Amino acid sequence: MTYTRININTAQPGKAKSRVMIIYTGGTFGMTYDANGVLIPFDFSLILEQLPALRNLFLEITVISFDHPVDSSNIQPVHWKMISEIIFENYEEQDGFVVLHGTDTMAFTASALSFMLPGLAKPVIVTGAQLPISQPRSDARENLITALEIASAKENGKPRVPEVCIYFDYELLRGNRSKKVESMHFDAFKSENYPTLAKAGVKIDYNDAAIRRAENEEIHLLTRFSTDISILKLFPGIDKRTVNSIIQAEGLKAIILETYGSGNAPSTAWFIESLKDAIKQGIMMVNISQCPGGTVMQGKYETSKSLADIGVISGEDMTMEAAVTKLMILLGEHGIEGARKLINQSLAGEVG
Ligand code: ASP
Repeated sequence: MTYTRININTAQPGKAKSRVMIIYTGGTFGMTYDANGVLIPFDFSLILEQLPALRNLFLEITVISFDHPVDSSNIQPVHWKMISEIIFENYEEQDGFVVLHGTDTMAFTASALSFMLPGLAKPVIVTGAQLPISQPRSDARENLITALEIASAKENGKPRVPEVCIYFDYELLRGNRSKKVESMHFDAFKSENYPTLAKAGVKIDYNDAAIRRAENEEIHLLTRFSTDISILKLFPGIDKRTVNSIIQAEGLKAIILETYGSGNAPSTAWFIESLKDAIKQGIMMVNISQCPGGTVMQGKYETSKSLADIGVISGEDMTMEAAVTKLMILLGEHGIEGARKLINQSLAGEVG
């Protein structure tokens, strides 16, 4: 995978207030029509023509544009590796980063980045759009301009939001608490279990109490993944054949059990026995809820007590996107024993 680097000084001939790097990975945001009416990726060197308002931000912008922008349904851990390496390599010289990404898997990428860059103390704002920037009613312009403003915002010389976030439709959310909830309207993301970090209106109102600040740590880069995981999503009527096809997959290290309500599952003997066997064979099992809001409380009901008894780990209030990416990184970096210890500890504000 290759990319092109473009420098745009929006403050010229004046002096730039801050330096921000935009990493353009693809998605609807950057689509435009060519002379034949075919949708093609937007040429970022022309951004000032599309968005003259950028000049009012007085920023020195470096754009890293993927040579082959991807629809985010094609995002893979290798793309997360590339994005996090770009951030890590340019970390010292930039004040903040804006990642332009398709909305479909944006919550996975934002979650993954939050775990891959422990000690991050600068903003990484992930955004995109529901309508291409070339469309008159596109949400791309507002999303990008405000994301840039947030990525460059400082208070007392320090970054205002030093964490990985999603900015979309006037709301700033913690990346690893976000979920895509809407595919037609502009309010595409929600964070049910954590407060909004900022709201953009006439001015940007920051919720300082909710913003996470790394404690004098140095930034690190973690890029080892294990994809030997699976999700077992429950539904009334799920049978032994379906459950077994998942838990007996070769080489599996961990399963995310997507349960009902506060972490409940059928109490049928064959179901509990199947899970118990898998756990005995060394598969790690993490319980997260299908409910976007609330938390898993194993033992609250009879239907979750048996899960705790056989050794299913509570994933508490983690989103599925956070659980998937955290497990991949923990397994890749620390192996199964390390993953077991760390899975329900807060590494980047994703749980609790
Ligand atoms: N399919 C697109 C993507 O995720 C949708 C979008 O960008 O909103 O790349």
